[in-house]
Amino acid sequence: EAKENGKSQICFFDTERHQIRSSRRELLNAIATAINQDELMLYYQPRVNLRDGSLFGAEALLRWFKDGRFYSPKEITTAIRDTEWEWQLDNWVMGKVIAHSKGLRQAGIIGPFGVNLNPKTVENEHFPQQLSTLLTAAGVAGKTLEIEVLEVSSIKNFEFTHAILSQCRAFGVSVALDDFGTGYSSLTHFHALPIDTLKIDQRFIKQLNSDPKSLALVKSILAIAQTNNRREVVAEGIESYAIAHTLKQLGCAFGQGYGFARPMPVTEYVSWVQNWNPSEFQARLNRHQQ
Ligand code: C2E
Ligand code: MG
Ligand code: MG
Ligand code: MG
Repeated sequence: EAKENGKSQICFFDTERHQIRSSRRELLNAIATAINQDELMLYYQPRVNLRDGSLFGAEALLRWFKDGRFYSPKEITTAIRDTEWEWQLDNWVMGKVIAHSKGLRQAGIIGPFGVNLNPKTVENEHFPQQLSTLLTAAGVAGKTLEIEVLEVSSIKNFEFTHAILSQCRAFGVSVALDDFGTGYSSLTHFHALPIDTLKIDQRFIKQLNSDPKSLALVKSILAIAQTNNRREVVAEGIESYAIAHTLKQLGCAFGQGYGFARPMPVTEYVSWVQNWNPSEFQARLNRHQQ
């Protein structure tokens, strides 16, 4: 009887695994179609200069609404993992940001616009040429884009990735290390790669005013960036002006978060920028002075 139970359990799990596999395939097919038919969207979240309230570009974030359902970027990147669609998605994202940047420029809005790329893309020797071709064909300057690289331990050959990122920087594209402070190898990545910007992960920012460990970590990231004076720091996930105030006091230059703006469709982003008032921002920030 125990044996029989075991047997039917194996059957059950096999069926379940099969269902997971086929639903992943369905999602993958739907994403492939969405990429081909240009149904994905990019939302923009502005970055604010905490020193004076001026704006410093935005981060482009993937959005997909399908049949009344929202699919998060993580669901999408998980579904396409280890398929050719990883590169197809990055190619679509870069092309879309480059296209948007032309209209944004006409509205007086310049970058840099951060793009989140698959870590594998920055290990592809053809990537700099592909990116340069996209930019040149659109007549868009490299400094319009910032590549956001996740600090992942999967980077195998630092010298190789260094060369690829350096080629991108040579035509003006800047490089940000995303989610800084979360990985085992933050400092290795920071020292081994040509990085312009450190993005402090939001988990530390959210708890900045309540958790001494997060405060200590943010302070040490700012100190590291300061001793390597090329590096700008962006704090992610600023949900309140109280947090923004603390960051400014600590000397953090830039921030983004729901406290200022949620990621928005590109047309909404344009009107948001046009309504933004740096002195109002400074006044609001100063109200948190103790
Ligand atoms: P990320 O690059 O670290 O992006 C920041 C995430 O934090 C975004 O989530 C953003 O919407 C969210 N966020 C910003 N401000 C706040 C805040 O004040 N509070 C809170 N709670 N959240 C905030 P999102 O859009 O869900 O993206 C999650 C991750 O998915 C991104 O993390 C990035 O790693 C990845 N991703 C996003 N867009 C793309 C893309 O186009 N391609 C690829 N490959 N990955 C992407
Ligand atoms: Mg990012
Ligand atoms: Mg991040
Ligand atoms: Mg993240």
